[in-house]
Amino acid sequence: MSKPYRVLLYYKYVPIDDPETFTAEHLAFCKELGVKGRILISSEGINGTLSGTVEQTDRYMKALRDDPRFSDIVFKIDEADGHAFKRISVRHRKEIVSLKLEEDINPNELTGKHLSPKEFYEALQDDDVVVIDARNTYEHQIGHFRGAILPDIDAFRELPKWVEEHLADKKDKKILAYCTGGIRCEKFTGYLIKQGFKDVNQLHGGIIEYGKDPEVKGRLYDGKCYVFDSRIAVPVNQTDEDVIVGQCHYCGKREDRLINCANPECNRQFICCTDCEDKYWHSCSDTCREHPNNRYVIKHKQEQKQLQQVNG
Ligand SMILES: [Zn+2]
Ligand SMILES: [Zn+2]
Repeated sequence: MSKPYRVLLYYKYVPIDDPETFTAEHLAFCKELGVKGRILISSEGINGTLSGTVEQTDRYMKALRDDPRFSDIVFKIDEADGHAFKRISVRHRKEIVSLKLEEDINPNELTGKHLSPKEFYEALQDDDVVVIDARNTYEHQIGHFRGAILPDIDAFRELPKWVEEHLADKKDKKILAYCTGGIRCEKFTGYLIKQGFKDVNQLHGGIIEYGKDPEVKGRLYDGKCYVFDSRIAVPVNQTDEDVIVGQCHYCGKREDRLINCANPECNRQFICCTDCEDKYWHSCSDTCREHPNNRYVIKHKQEQKQLQQVNG
């Protein structure tokens, strides 16, 4: 049986005149509809992920497709038991993904070749390809394509410099780039072509579409896919190849459980097993553990106080 809610993931690079006005109107529309999520709008297009009931998301998709600018927009749809976001945010930004290049790339003019999940799967099996994960460390640490290069970066805008420093000798190789839903690779592969990479390809629809392909079934992807909503991670590989990628930050055992550091000023997401979570007070470091506003400590003090009141 299908579930009562859905999570949508979508983007479209298309010129938007007066993006500020469009942002305000779109926010009002989303509020009226009751969908929740995060949407970025710029003069270069729209990038969104949201949750709502089946009816709400149907109405949202129809409304967007009725707009000639978005008539061919592709929605990646996941079923869900409830909302995956706490509120709705629609914001105007300079870019719908922040690569911050000195000279910006327009993916409608320059981008890598789009490969379907099946084409990508077949290309992955060539010996001489270079597979690049275009996401951040906190994303690929819980799952990635087998054999992929995993840049150690905290933000997408750090990727160009990382590539310059590490992949300058790979310009003649066949490049296979991928990200969560495909939006980052649209720009990133354009950047690679501009840097002189000769055979640049990208996974159309990203890991999310790859995991849904009925033929490929997520093969050659190990671990989970990090997502930017309350689910945190979703499964990709539907075969028995499915494995856990990642290690507990403290004890090193195989684990893909992400938690947020209890220091509110750090908030870093890190992999931690349940034992170490309690042992290290939900914190990513000694400094964070000893922070005066550590949420875990505050919560425990309150619990102890309540216990004393009950007992006293
Ligand atoms: Zn552990
Ligand atoms: Zn921390």
